[in-house]
Amino acid sequence: MSRLGQLAVVFCVCAYVKGEPRPPVILISVDTLRADYLTCYRQGRDVTSHIDSLAQNGTLFSQVSAVVPLTLPSHVAMLTSTYPFVNGVEDNGIPFGTGDTLATVLKAAGYRTAAFVGGFVLDRRFGLSRGFDVYDSPFDLHRKTVMDAGDLKRPGAQVAAAAMRWLDQNGNSPFFLFLHVYDLHTPYNLPSGAPRRGDAGYRAELAYVDGVVGNFLAYLERRGLLKKSLIVFTSDHGEGLGEHGETTHGYFLYESTLHVPLIIHWPEAQRPASRKQVDEPASLLDVAPTILDVIGLPQPASTQGRSLNATGASDRELFSESLYARNHFGCAPLRSLRAGHYKYIDAPTPELYDLSADPLESRNLYGSQTARATAMRGRIASLVSTAPAAQSRAPSPEAASALRSLGYLSGSTASSRLASHIDPKDRIIDFERYGQALAMASAGRLAESSRLLSTLIEKLPDVVDIRISLGLNDQQAGDYAKAAQEFRRALESTPLSAQAHFDLAVSYFRLRRMDPATRELQAALALEPWYTRAEELLAQIYLETRDYSAARARLEHLLSIDPESYAAHYNLGVLAAMNGDWSGAQAALTSALHTDPSSAEAHNTLGSVFLRRGDLQQARAELEQAIKIEPRFAFAYYNLALVSKKERKTEEAARELRAALKADPTFHAAKTELDRIEGSPAP
Ligand SMILES: [Zn+2]
Repeated sequence: MSRLGQLAVVFCVCAYVKGEPRPPVILISVDTLRADYLTCYRQGRDVTSHIDSLAQNGTLFSQVSAVVPLTLPSHVAMLTSTYPFVNGVEDNGIPFGTGDTLATVLKAAGYRTAAFVGGFVLDRRFGLSRGFDVYDSPFDLHRKTVMDAGDLKRPGAQVAAAAMRWLDQNGNSPFFLFLHVYDLHTPYNLPSGAPRRGDAGYRAELAYVDGVVGNFLAYLERRGLLKKSLIVFTSDHGEGLGEHGETTHGYFLYESTLHVPLIIHWPEAQRPASRKQVDEPASLLDVAPTILDVIGLPQPASTQGRSLNATGASDRELFSESLYARNHFGCAPLRSLRAGHYKYIDAPTPELYDLSADPLESRNLYGSQTARATAMRGRIASLVSTAPAAQSRAPSPEAASALRSLGYLSGSTASSRLASHIDPKDRIIDFERYGQALAMASAGRLAESSRLLSTLIEKLPDVVDIRISLGLNDQQAGDYAKAAQEFRRALESTPLSAQAHFDLAVSYFRLRRMDPATRELQAALALEPWYTRAEELLAQIYLETRDYSAARARLEHLLSIDPESYAAHYNLGVLAAMNGDWSGAQAALTSALHTDPSSAEAHNTLGSVFLRRGDLQQARAELEQAIKIEPRFAFAYYNLALVSKKERKTEEAARELRAALKADPTFHAAKTELDRIEGSPAP
């Protein structure tokens, strides 16, 4: 086969004409979407008619690679057009710091900008919110129902509905809308009856997502936006679904997780006459440059991708990386380079594939084409060496000093991670078993999960994540002393793990050892100042130990990271009430209820604030709501009785006090009050 590039025809969309209004821009990222599961990419799949319709009326790019098969790093690369080793976001959970993004550039050009996010992994605290007027990521960790925050998501239909509500108000101005749909990411949780695992679960979720996209496109059509807009449809990475032994994504760099769809639906005025499909290799780094090129805006100096509006270059090489197995499973990092139809994966056991003859990457040509592979390895090394200052995860000076005061760091602040020479391929079976252990724990099968984790830690004592998971199982089972022991052992080898510090703090807190819990939380926050769960717990400890000014400072900082934090609003409301600041308390509690309208605790506290203010009608409404949500809420019945008493409804008050005592027979104040009403002397 000749090199793909030599067949390339130059393809160019009519550029934007000066003086005309710039077109609206819509970027749709369906997380975890394998290109080859769409019928427009591969015949014979379940029909994805709505997504296909975009391709029928647009241009399909058939050979597009993700830069990193992980959600946050991939989206940061996509929206900044920079390599992860340059922008510093090489793993989930590392916030994007500074630099231009597609959103900051479009906002500066006068666009209204809004993002609607389906998964917590892209929560605003991780930095992609810069440049967006609205960044809709309402994930509330205080009601976390999953073991791993990475699994927190909201259904695509909800995300799209929020986007459409925003378009109702803003669709007539130049706008940039980023829609992120997370349903294809495990766990699959469609309504019961739908398959929940493996290929069948994935396909069921894809059918749902295709419907969500269809509804969204129909809305754009009704609003007259479908023809006017530049619509870019893509994904951040694929899904292993068992290929190469990988169930999900992030661990390896095979095409199952790197090959993503990219479909561009051009504004009608700029639609090219032909060219339904472009087969030249391209990268997700090219998304932002293409959009800016089509709408006639200059590229930021930091751009590392290129516009696909003028493809035809034959020398394109595509770099990808994953540090996941290095960061989490004691292995060497993986880096790959695609040049034409050859793909090289740099690993302790290197791999070379001819993708045109062997798309499933089943025949490693490294032994027979070592010279080609060596040359490609050299080009990877020289590309990575262009990175500004090595991105080791050394702690900041504040973090280092906090850790030193805890005895975790001595002298040097250098990262203690030693370079591993273990090939991720040699640990994939254990990695998958580790995933099974986590799934068992999520399903409540703790003992079974812990047995498997113990077997794994014996075999892989260097893998700290396994030890932390074991500690979390102990914690879940209520054995806090044993959990603390596991976390302390984890911290011996990885003192820079904010998660281990946090988990250890939770165990100490449960053991009512407030001083060491406080120190561990301070360490976690020194390492990751955006760690809101650590800050919530620290504020709670300060509240319990009556250090109210420290609690207030933490809660206010929490709001700067997460403006919709339930815990921050609720506790600031309680603090205001303690100071007799009724209007401040009312405002804060109302905000807490805005985040979580189903919080009985917040309704009850707000009800008692109204009671103190003498607004008996509002007080009753809030307290009745609290009881409706939590029918055995003794304190809400008690407060309600106080309202009835003020209204001189003695019978009602007595009934409510009896309900309080039925819910909690040890409720002393309720008993005293009831005795008083019924005329018998209090004991
Ligand atoms: Zn993802």
